[in-house]
Amino acid sequence: MTLTDMTYADLIHDVEDRLEAGGRILRHEAERLLDTPDADMMRLAAAADRIRIHFKGDRFDACSLINARSGRCSEDCAFCAQSARHNGRADVYGLRTADDILSAAHAAREAGASRFCTVTSGGALSDNDFDSLIESLDRVRREVDIALDASLGFLDEGRAARLSAVGVTRYNHNLETSREHYPSICSTHSFDRRVETVRTALESGFSACSGGIIGLGETPSQRLDLAFTLADLGVDCVPINILDPRPGTPLEHADELEPMEIIRTIAVFRMILPTATIKIAGGRERNLGDFQALALRSGANGMIIGGYLTTSGRSLDTDLKLIHQAGFRL
Ligand code: SF4
Repeated sequence: MTLTDMTYADLIHDVEDRLEAGGRILRHEAERLLDTPDADMMRLAAAADRIRIHFKGDRFDACSLINARSGRCSEDCAFCAQSARHNGRADVYGLRTADDILSAAHAAREAGASRFCTVTSGGALSDNDFDSLIESLDRVRREVDIALDASLGFLDEGRAARLSAVGVTRYNHNLETSREHYPSICSTHSFDRRVETVRTALESGFSACSGGIIGLGETPSQRLDLAFTLADLGVDCVPINILDPRPGTPLEHADELEPMEIIRTIAVFRMILPTATIKIAGGRERNLGDFQALALRSGANGMIIGGYLTTSGRSLDTDLKLIHQAGFRL
């Protein structure tokens, strides 16, 4: 029987069995599943949910972040309100003090977050800012019981070693979109430069967190390219952001994705990356609305809670209630 002769029910069943036995989904299968009709959507979501349960159980990865330096970025990522090349309206401030970072880490811990990620705008920090951030993170490690992530732009081995020495265990650097679509969203650096940083993070012993943004005008096939690239790199954690168009950026009038398209994407990402943590990140409130609970039962097992880099999220209580009601434990 050829793939096109198979019913969606048979295909979904076949892929689920193979993944749970340690196999991989094939590219043409993923292409077809990304096109699952509404009548079979719940079947796809349920299979992705069972694959998540098989590999990840009910442990939920709730990450809280601090935007420790905002704006004034010399890069031109088309979705980003922090680029100095657009007229975005993100806050602009220099590196936050150690006290600020420490108190955000305490707040994240008290809110129930398992990980705390320090994020800074720009391609890379200056040496002075990097030194100062290292001191801040060292204080956080000594004073707060929370896993430390960092997302500080492009990474080299020397900086990786220093971050590791102060307790950072996961490094985030999103690929954002596919290699083919990348030049349409950024002209100031290459896709390969991003891949290189993810590789440096992995080779330096970090858990690598890397995902992207859907809704940047990419085709469904380019969305799959991103997922397969992340799988080939061997990343551990995949944040899926959904574009929340920011005023003043080149994508401010981009078309919104339908909730079911987002759910389909999350489910297929789970099948391409069966053992990874898949995190629903920025844009979930605006784009998924009441479908956020369904997204958590369609293959995702993590969320960024407590707000994003340039937008605020829902209240922590609301998110924590959702996580528990969806059957996860923190
Ligand atoms: S995504 Fe990062 S590198 Fe790109 S413009 Fe925004 S802050 Fe700069």
